[in-house]
Amino acid sequence: MATREQELLQLKELLVDGGTVLLGSDISPNLLSDFIGQDIGFAEAYVKVASGAEVGSVVKFAASHDQPITIRGAGTNLVGSTIPHGGIVLDVSGLNRILELDEENRTILVEPGVLLCDLQQYVEERGLFYPPDPAEKRATIGGNIATNAGGMRAVKYGVTRDFVLGLEVVTATGETVFLGSKCLKDATGLPLKQLLIGSEGTLGVITKCLLRLISKPEATAHALVGFSSLKEAITAVNDLHAANLAPTAIEFVEKKVIAFGESFVQQNFPLPNSIAYLVITFDGPKSELQDKLTRCHEVLASSHSIEFLPLEDPTVANNVWTIRAALAKAVQASGIWEPVDTVVPLSDIASFVEYLEELSAETGVRILAFGHAGDGNVHLCILKDDLPVEAWPQTLDVVLSKLYRRVYQLHGKIAAEHGIGRHKRKYFLQEVNDTELELMRLVKHALDPQNLFNPQSGYTA
Ligand SMILES: Cc1cc2nc3c(=O)[nH]c(=O)nc-3n(C[C@H](O)[C@H](O)[C@H](O)COP(=O)(O)OP(=O)(O)OC[C@H]3O[C@@H](n4cnc5c(N)ncnc54)[C@H](O)[C@@H]3O)c2cc1C
Repeated sequence: MATREQELLQLKELLVDGGTVLLGSDISPNLLSDFIGQDIGFAEAYVKVASGAEVGSVVKFAASHDQPITIRGAGTNLVGSTIPHGGIVLDVSGLNRILELDEENRTILVEPGVLLCDLQQYVEERGLFYPPDPAEKRATIGGNIATNAGGMRAVKYGVTRDFVLGLEVVTATGETVFLGSKCLKDATGLPLKQLLIGSEGTLGVITKCLLRLISKPEATAHALVGFSSLKEAITAVNDLHAANLAPTAIEFVEKKVIAFGESFVQQNFPLPNSIAYLVITFDGPKSELQDKLTRCHEVLASSHSIEFLPLEDPTVANNVWTIRAALAKAVQASGIWEPVDTVVPLSDIASFVEYLEELSAETGVRILAFGHAGDGNVHLCILKDDLPVEAWPQTLDVVLSKLYRRVYQLHGKIAAEHGIGRHKRKYFLQEVNDTELELMRLVKHALDPQNLFNPQSGYTA
C-alpha cells in the first residue's frame, strides 16, 4: 500500500518533465501565505504547473484523493486568500505566455500568470491600452480577475471585470471550458464568466484570459492638490465629479501616511504645508488636457483647496506617484498592520473618514487612510504600533468590528477590490444577508460540490 508521501509524489507524473512538486516541510513559508506574511498556512503538497492541461490533471488528482486546492497566482493578495489549510497549493504563475494579440478586434489572449506590468507594457508598446491599474503591478492577470481588482483608473474606466471578454476555466471535475467570446455583446444564456470574476479561486481555475483593449490615450496630465484637512479633501471630490471633467484617477492621501512613503523610497513629496492631498489624473487628447487642469484648479479652489500643483516636472510627478504606489509596502516595512479595503457611497466618504478619527481616539489605535477617493474606496492601515503582540488580535477585532459595522450602516461594503479571503470572512459572515449567503453557497455547491477550491475562504461553507 502506497504511503501518503508516495501517493502525493504521483503528482510529478502529471507534469511534463516532472515539474515542481514540493511536499510538507519542503514548501517555503512564502508559498503558504499572502503579501502580509503574518499567517502561514500548511499544505501537504505544492505544485507549480506550466499548462492548462497540467491544471486539469492536478484537479482530477485532487478530486479523486479528496485534497482541497488553494489556487495561487503571485500571492500579492492582502486578505489571506492564498493561505492553505491542508491539501494542495496549485501555483499557476508559470502559465505566463501572451498567446494572441488581435489588433482588429482589440483583444488580447493571455495565460493567467502574465504579470500586470508585462501586459501593460506589451500593449502600450503597440499603441493599445489595458485600463485596469491596481497598484501592485507584479500581480498576475489571473489573480486580478479572481479578485476583480480595481485600482487607480477605475473612476474613468471601471474595474477588471469591465475588460474581461472571456475565460478558459478548469472546473472542479478537471474539465476545461471557455466562457465568453470576442463579441462585445452577449445575451446568450447565463453569463457564467461573470461568476468566475471576483470568485477568489472558489469556483474554478482560470487558465486563459481574453481581455478587451482600447486605444492608448494620447497624453496624460496630473495635479497634486493640498487641503488643510482630510475631510475637506474628500468633500471636494464630489465637486470634481459634478464638474463633469471625467478624471482618470482621484487618489487621496493624508500627510501622516506620506511620511511612511517618503522614508521608504527616500524621495520628497511636494506641498509640505498641506495636511491631506488629492492626486488627480486626466488622460485623452493633448489639446484638451490643459483646459481640464485649469477647470479642475477653479473647481477645487472654490472647494477649499489651499495649494494646487500641476505635475509638469517629470521628476516631481514621478516622486508623487512612486510615493503613492509604495504606501502599502512602506507601512508593511514599518511593522505589524492590518489592511482594510472599505467602500462607501460617494455621498458618505466624508462622514466615514470623520468617523475614523473618532474610532482612533476611542480605541487608541492609529488608523491611516489613503485610497481611491473617486469611487469611494477608502483604504485604511490599522497600526499595531507599541501595543503588545498578545493584545493585538483582540484590539484589532474591536476596531474592525466597529469599523465594519459603520460601513454596513452606510450601505457600504467591506471589500471593494481585495476580496474577502480568510481575513475578512468573519466580518463578512456577521453582516451578510442570510438569503444572499445561501444563494452564494448554492452556486458554489453547483460548480464545486466537493468544496475543492479554496474551502473556508470568503463566503464558502
Ligand atoms: C502593494 C500592494 C498594492 C495593491 N494595490 C491594489 C490595488 O490598487 N487594487 C487592487 O484591487 N488590489 C491591490 N492589491 C492586492 C493584490 O495585488 C490583488 O488582489 C491582485 O489581484 C492579486 O493578484 P495575485 O496574482 O497576487 O493573486 P494571488 O494573491 O495569488 O491570489 C488572489 C486570489 O485569486 C485566486 N487566484 C489567483 N490566480 C487564479 C487563477 N488563475 N484562477 C482562479 N483563481 C485564482 C487565489 O486563489 C486567491 O483567492 C495590492 C497588493 C499590494 C501588495
